[in-house]
Amino acid sequence: MKSQDVRSKFLKFFEGKQHLIVPSAPMVLKNDPTLMFVNAGMVPFKEYFLGNSEPKKNRISDSQKCLRVSGKHNDLEEVGYDTYHHTLFEMLGNWSFGDYFKEEAIAWAWELLTEVYGIDKSILYVTVFEGSDDEDNLKMDTEAYDIWKKYISEDRILKGNKKDNFWEMGDQGPCGPCSEIHVDIRSAEEKAKVDAKTLINMDHPHVVEIWNLVFMQYNRKANGVLEALPNKHIDTGMGFERLCMVLQDVQSNYDTDVFTPIIREIETITGKTYGDNEEVDIAIRVISDHVRAVAFSIADGQLPSNTGSGYVIRRILRRAVRYGFTFLDKKEPLIYRLVDVLSKKMGEAFPEIRAQKVLIENVIKEEEASFLRTLDQGLVLLNRIVEETKGDTVSGEKAFELYDTYGFPIDLTALILSEKNLKLDEKGFNEQLQKQKERSRSASETSTEDWTVLFEDDVQEFIGYDTQEANVKIAKYRKVTSKKDGEMYQLVFNLTPFYPEGGGQVGDKGVLQDTHGDVVYILDTKKENNVIIHLCKNLPEHLNESFKAVVNSEHRALSSSNHTATHLLHQALRTVLGEHVEQKGSLVKPKSLRFDFSHFSKVTPEQLQEIEDFVNARIEGKLPLEEHRNIPMEKAIEEGAMALFGEKYGDTVRTIRFGKSMELCGGIHVKNTSDIWHFKIVSEGAVAAGIRRIEAITNKSVRDYFAENNTAYLEMKGLLNNAKEPIKALENLQGENSDLKKQIEELLKDKAKNIKGELKSELTEINGIQFLAKKLDLDASGVKDVCFELGSQFENLFLIFGAENDGKAILSCYISKELVASKGLNAGTIVRELGKHIQGGGGGQPFFATAGGKNPNGIEAALEAAKDYL
Ligand code: ATP
Ligand code: MG
Repeated sequence: MKSQDVRSKFLKFFEGKQHLIVPSAPMVLKNDPTLMFVNAGMVPFKEYFLGNSEPKKNRISDSQKCLRVSGKHNDLEEVGYDTYHHTLFEMLGNWSFGDYFKEEAIAWAWELLTEVYGIDKSILYVTVFEGSDDEDNLKMDTEAYDIWKKYISEDRILKGNKKDNFWEMGDQGPCGPCSEIHVDIRSAEEKAKVDAKTLINMDHPHVVEIWNLVFMQYNRKANGVLEALPNKHIDTGMGFERLCMVLQDVQSNYDTDVFTPIIREIETITGKTYGDNEEVDIAIRVISDHVRAVAFSIADGQLPSNTGSGYVIRRILRRAVRYGFTFLDKKEPLIYRLVDVLSKKMGEAFPEIRAQKVLIENVIKEEEASFLRTLDQGLVLLNRIVEETKGDTVSGEKAFELYDTYGFPIDLTALILSEKNLKLDEKGFNEQLQKQKERSRSASETSTEDWTVLFEDDVQEFIGYDTQEANVKIAKYRKVTSKKDGEMYQLVFNLTPFYPEGGGQVGDKGVLQDTHGDVVYILDTKKENNVIIHLCKNLPEHLNESFKAVVNSEHRALSSSNHTATHLLHQALRTVLGEHVEQKGSLVKPKSLRFDFSHFSKVTPEQLQEIEDFVNARIEGKLPLEEHRNIPMEKAIEEGAMALFGEKYGDTVRTIRFGKSMELCGGIHVKNTSDIWHFKIVSEGAVAAGIRRIEAITNKSVRDYFAENNTAYLEMKGLLNNAKEPIKALENLQGENSDLKKQIEELLKDKAKNIKGELKSELTEINGIQFLAKKLDLDASGVKDVCFELGSQFENLFLIFGAENDGKAILSCYISKELVASKGLNAGTIVRELGKHIQGGGGGQPFFATAGGKNPNGIEAALEAAKDYL
């Protein structure tokens, strides 16, 4: 069965059981401080389990892109070495939000596997939770056990511990007991030798878990305590690639049609064959896996970078480059060349990958090239370290420096050293690594207390589109302590006019006033999942009373101006540069805006002018805001609204239209484009391969900008004696200046000529050498000219000249080439030694060298000492 059919059969089956089929949510998470990437199918639905928001339907099914490379679920180091763990994989899932529970979940899983997919029952095993006698004190899941008994003989139902049979997303959040379904795909002989039951959950590549049915009934709180969820839910996750392995009757995920086209392409590019050599195979598996993770992440809007999720992606890509570099002998970019096959293979189910193919290729290629350069430089440094190493062990500190400062991977260091019969002090290296980790941990550590709930409130209404002021009550609050911000409080209101940071726009600031005249400042507003959080330094005193919440209106007005300008800029870019322009990032602050977009060459000054004019024409056109809230997503798209890749949209959306610019947007905008006043681009440049950035200002910032420029202009004009034509006056000055420079050069040349004549007569012959040590009143290049002119007239010259320029001392030494050869004199060595007198150093060639120093008073002593060389 082709992988495409495996996926669609799953979704069709659950559609038949009244599930709503939804597309995969973006893999990169925003607004979630506990998690960077979706690591399980349930993550996008977390809010439904917690009861913070309502699903469109209480039965849903999907295939979700998951990434397990950080945090609680991290399979990165396994990938490539085994045949069934990936970084990015698809998780097929069916969900019940407070609807059906264990009975149906188990019955349907069994029906799908054995009847629809036709998997032989004799290869299936299941597990149930055995309970725990730790602080959670949980009972065995006898309910699940009894249901399974109806389908499978009891000797195939195994009891499992908390590690395998109690599912948790992270340290906090929804969780519950689970039942796993395992397959045994070993050969008949192997099956006869070892009982499958002894291999379950024992990391055997052919006795693997394919599906996990989670019976969600608890929430793990920050203090570690389990609390019963308001409703019971079903969350199941089946590894798509593993299921394909079973249904395609192969022994490895990499032998399914999900991976074989990519692997064939790697073989073609590198000339290696998969299946001949274990190291090569690992490298091929690593690359074919990692290209998927990186490509999907870029498609979701997360580019490789130096921090956060971007850094995780960069590390994955670098891991792939390193394996290619080391085991496939590929010293030039290769991974980007796989994107084409990938997009052909996956583009149907995940259109984002097809739509952004060129961008993905460019970004990966650039990253690869830059890391390959790092590896090259690292190799040079490593060779130097090897040369300098005495004994047979390279110190952990040196290896760490290479790793930390130059990004050179430690396993590569170890490998190269072992090829040179050297050892690496791994203990020393790990100590350094540990120290660094502690440094960065203590810098970023935050502790978050549990919420103190003042009253239960399900709907926390945002009313900030219509008003900037409201009477509010505090529903809950908590304290967060971090190194960076110290102690802060987070408040949640029953309703709020404060806009939480999102869609690129910064959060609102403002105040909270009580009836006693006390005021607490709201310093920022953020969103965590769906909850709006107000940050303040102090907790209000009368927590249970009602407050007047007032948004800082200037902060908001200026942000709104920049946000609307961002939409107009987006429209301008697509009009002037072309429809290929996609938004890749945006930051909207009161002072300025920043907009990143895909485009493959520099935007020319003419284009920038055209873009600026386009936006300003719309500002002058006084276009009114047309806002629609809660319109169905399909309708908005049909009407031409622009949606962004990687953005998670609800079923109904808000659209913002100004003239022909129409976007899906949750941000705050001006009522009329004329409020923007004026738009000015202040910079344009590259941020990554194929991604450009424009920075611009509007409104008050433009006024300030013009005012500053004008002041500078007037000052300049003043300095030019208020010339009528200041530019002409400046050009004249510049002309005069360069004429004067030329004249000075001529004069200095003449002076050097005269000096040369005098110096000739001062030469003294000592031991057949024409010698002179003297302080000259010339600059460094004048001294050099003198040396070389005298040098062209004598064959046995030894000159030491001192000079003083701008309070610094210079020593120059010239020795005829003949003397260098016959007497073994070296000007470089001599100036270095004499340089001590002037507190400086220098060097050069054996026949001419100079030294610079801080102490002009030492020049005489240096000249005196020069005689000693004769
Ligand atoms: P394992 O023990 O094999 O690592 P798990 O217990 O971590 O699996 P779950 O968290 O229960 O797995 O995820 C549900 C399903 O997702 C698994 O049954 C498996 O089929 C699949 N799965 C989990 N991790 C991976 C991975 N890294 N690559 C591919 N599929 C995976
Ligand atoms: Mg796992």
